[in-house]
Amino acid sequence: MQRVNRMIRKTIRPPSSTLTGEQEEDPLGTGARPQPEEHVQLPLFRPTRGVLTVVSCEKRPPRTTPQTQQFRKQFYHGVPRQLWNDWHWQVSNRIRSLAQLKVIIDLSDEETAALSMDGHKLPLAVTPYYLSLISPSDPDQPLRRTMIPTLHEMVKSPEEADDPLGEDSQSPVPGLVHRYPDRVLLLVHDFCAAYCRYCTRSRMVGHGKLLSDRRRLEVAIDYIQSKKVVRDVLISGGDPLLLGDDRLNWILDRLRRIPHVEVIRIGTKVPAVLPQRVTPKLVRMLQHYHPLWMSLHFTHPDECTPEAYRACAMLADAGIPLGSQTVLLKGVNDSVETMKGLMHHLMRMRVRPYYLYQCDPIVGSGHFRTPVETGVKIIRGLRGFTSGYAVPTYVIDIPGGGGKIPISPEYVDRREGSELLLRNFEGKAFCYVDSCPNVSSAALPVLVSSGVPAETAASMTSAPHEHRPDL
Ligand code: SF4
Repeated sequence: MQRVNRMIRKTIRPPSSTLTGEQEEDPLGTGARPQPEEHVQLPLFRPTRGVLTVVSCEKRPPRTTPQTQQFRKQFYHGVPRQLWNDWHWQVSNRIRSLAQLKVIIDLSDEETAALSMDGHKLPLAVTPYYLSLISPSDPDQPLRRTMIPTLHEMVKSPEEADDPLGEDSQSPVPGLVHRYPDRVLLLVHDFCAAYCRYCTRSRMVGHGKLLSDRRRLEVAIDYIQSKKVVRDVLISGGDPLLLGDDRLNWILDRLRRIPHVEVIRIGTKVPAVLPQRVTPKLVRMLQHYHPLWMSLHFTHPDECTPEAYRACAMLADAGIPLGSQTVLLKGVNDSVETMKGLMHHLMRMRVRPYYLYQCDPIVGSGHFRTPVETGVKIIRGLRGFTSGYAVPTYVIDIPGGGGKIPISPEYVDRREGSELLLRNFEGKAFCYVDSCPNVSSAALPVLVSSGVPAETAASMTSAPHEHRPDL
């Protein structure tokens, strides 16, 4: 064990090499350890609404899981808890190479082979915190599959493409996608805390080519300013919360000054992979820019740790509406049981399940993709069997830039005249009379005597009817 600890001390340092050899952007601008004054003293894992009842029956909810605690002791012996909980430290100490990874994880031959190969589109990067949630022994563990490359990534199927959603062709200025009429996607940089092996933007994230430099962002913001139809700006990347507070504040401030931008949204996986980033200072800054929404990216119930609960509670307490986008992934979350578990966690974290995505056909993602029927079965297994709020909308983001198309189970058996023959969530058949009868003119005196103005009553009893008041 001493030998292992020595190796760890040698290997777990700010990265000197990456898997691909490409230079990744460093938005912190450091690559070094944070200055003492930057350390954030995290408050206790407060018993905020919705957390106490969920995480533990103890008086004070735990700060972390025994698994993470044990991991820190074993592999980061000597790293004090305060430093471990510093997001700058987590980012600076991400695991980014085979040499670092194999000290901690018993890699399979397939993983080792994949990590040894050149030509990855997507670099390897995992925060120490997230690695603590990954099984060191089971290559099939869901979180491990989403982070550690395998040889399957090297296989390209005919339907796959680097940019299946056609974002590049709908990009009027660098780093801005304008697909839908009233909203745009602003890619602030290409840096993430951890790189998901199924990432839709694997063609660009982690390569250090899309920087958050002011000149590029000014051009994108000028574009938004010039398009009065744009009322909703989604900030994504890369992960926007990996920007420093000042840079993010600058972007939000610039957007908020544009009168026609009603809503700003941030897409982030930070609460799952780097919950330490959600600091009181960040939350205070975000609060200035309401209405500000967040789309979080959770994949599996194992991500719903005390740290993630706490991060979501801080954001929700700041009045930020939280939604979750989940990608349907084979061998990760492609069962009703797993998906229901995740959705229940999300509700308890005050995160509304929003979209369940069919995995986009990016190059090398075939091993993650399920048949569409699997997604339909999952929605069928949720609808009626759990709270309606826990049922996301299952969508296919159509290759070529067609946008999101919702897919749902069929509950209409057939129509016979005005009768709809329906099946409920249990498969029981029901008939619904789909008619919109006019209110009989005989009801006119009744309406008038009930106080409805004569003119309104007359319009309600004249055909054809366009509305049905609750009589
Ligand atoms: S966090 Fe989002 S942008 Fe970053 S690698 Fe994962 S899916 Fe891609």
